[in-house]
Amino acid sequence: MKILEAEHISKTYPIGKNFDAIHALEDTTISFEEETMNIIIGRSGSGKSTLLHILGGLDEPSRGKVLLEGKDIYSLNDKNNTILRRRRIGFIYQFYNLIPDLTVYENIVLPLHIDHQKEDPQYIQELLEFLGIEDKKDAMPDTLSGGQQQRVAIARALAMKPAIILADEPTGNLDKKSGEEVITLLLNAKHKYHSTIIIVTHDQSVSNIADRVITLEDGKVISDTHPL
Ligand code: ADP
Ligand code: MG
Repeated sequence: MKILEAEHISKTYPIGKNFDAIHALEDTTISFEEETMNIIIGRSGSGKSTLLHILGGLDEPSRGKVLLEGKDIYSLNDKNNTILRRRRIGFIYQFYNLIPDLTVYENIVLPLHIDHQKEDPQYIQELLEFLGIEDKKDAMPDTLSGGQQQRVAIARALAMKPAIILADEPTGNLDKKSGEEVITLLLNAKHKYHSTIIIVTHDQSVSNIADRVITLEDGKVISDTHPL
């Protein structure tokens, strides 16, 4: 089943007073199947982050629409868009974006608390174990390695049991080994939690474990392959 669909998406950033504009995305139509691992690759500036933000409800396209589980997310009002995004989509960033004043555990349950939900401690414990950070539960983020911080960010993304996980260069700040571990964990999350995973990277080596590899160039999809 298609879980996320972008239809004829364009994103234009106006610059200056003349009609010069940056076309970050140009008429892109792309959809994603449930429980798949998808990689988006492309050079810096090719539109990867723009596409991911639009897919995730964070940045309204200039043209086109995005359907999440059949719902047109940009036709919702801001409040409903925020709630849908918060509950159905987990984001992972290159620089982890953990809250420095909160412990690992507090960071992980934060999205639930923001959504006025109480966490299931057993599920959070399962996540900590799944990610190999159970002994870091009460640690502060700045005492962790980059790889460990990214694991916390993955746990935080999974806390809400989202349908989709979007990761923008999640290994961009990690050494090779930690980066590979993070990718393996995301792949395992697909199997264990039936997540649909979309990873932006410019690391070509990630592409051989993905169900699908999409290549962007100058705001357009120039290749879309299913290597497995
Ligand atoms: P990537 O993630 O592949 O490096 P981006 O999606 O960040 O690419 O950017 C695509 C293009 O859009 C680039 O030319 C970039 O400079 C431009 N761009 C991105 N965000 C903005 C913005 N907020 N304002 C103006 N131009 C932007
Ligand atoms: Mg980017």
